[in-house]
Amino acid sequence: MDLFFCIPIIFGCPTKIKPEGDPTPRICPRCHNVAVQRAKSRTWFELCFVPLIPMGSKHIWICSICQWSVPLQPNWEPQQANFGYQGPPYGVAGPPPRPH
Ligand SMILES: [Zn+2]
Repeated sequence: MDLFFCIPIIFGCPTKIKPEGDPTPRICPRCHNVAVQRAKSRTWFELCFVPLIPMGSKHIWICSICQWSVPLQPNWEPQQANFGYQGPPYGVAGPPPRPH
């Protein structure tokens, strides 16, 4: 008897998100928090949880609160937060309280 059936091989292609350090905060179009930043998304071929082969990368916008993300586009970018705006600080302290 051979043991081939007993060796678990776990593989997958998880995506690692690495912020690119864009200092300008952006407003999320979905949750309206100032939490969108530029990031590099890289997909790895992973075997038994060890990243082996980079499968390609792309630049994205990602919201750290609601996880909204979109690929970087040449003619569009999320709205920049305007610090001169004196309105209510909606979203700065996190998501709005949920009604009970
Ligand atoms: Zn968001």
